[in-house]
Amino acid sequence: MQEYKNIILVSHCLLNELAVVKNDAGRKDNLSLIKNLMKMNVGIYQLPCPENRMYSPNRLGSVYEQFDNNFYRKTSRDLLSPIVNEIEDYIKDGVSFLGVIGIDGSPSCGVGLTCKSKEFKGEISAIKDIYHCVNSIEMTDDKGVFMEELEKLFKTKNITANFYGYNDNNQDEIIGKIEESIKK
Ligand code: SF4
Repeated sequence: MQEYKNIILVSHCLLNELAVVKNDAGRKDNLSLIKNLMKMNVGIYQLPCPENRMYSPNRLGSVYEQFDNNFYRKTSRDLLSPIVNEIEDYIKDGVSFLGVIGIDGSPSCGVGLTCKSKEFKGEISAIKDIYHCVNSIEMTDDKGVFMEELEKLFKTKNITANFYGYNDNNQDEIIGKIEESIKK
């Protein structure tokens, strides 16, 4: 049996693309990322997909503002609290917690990029200029709602967590940083 001394949390869809919003391009380099983590004997802990849990695989794509509400935040915390407790126990047991890999661009799991719009809302058939509505979406260098709640939970327990945002082009960069953090 391999000896595992490190653990990392990953967004659900890095392992299960069925959770991704339909018609989304999906994750192109996730297999390579996961294989590299496995080669390094890192325990890979899959977070739940908050959007899939709350709004099903048939949900429409959304922006940060649609999830920035008390229900979504509380449900995110309810999903995440037992996981943060488990990570705390692993740390007490001598395991090194390497952090979290989220998904850049996601309104929930974004780390360095999150899609936002104040105009993307409402009854679709009543929107006169759908292109204007879609074009109002911008990427900002913020965390998504689910990652914000996860970061807050870590802070309440004084757990230090590195956050990495996967974006289809940066798996080498993420793996390089994780390798460095294992060496330290
Ligand atoms: S909410 Fe997170 S886990 Fe779910 S599909 Fe979006 S990025 Fe992936």
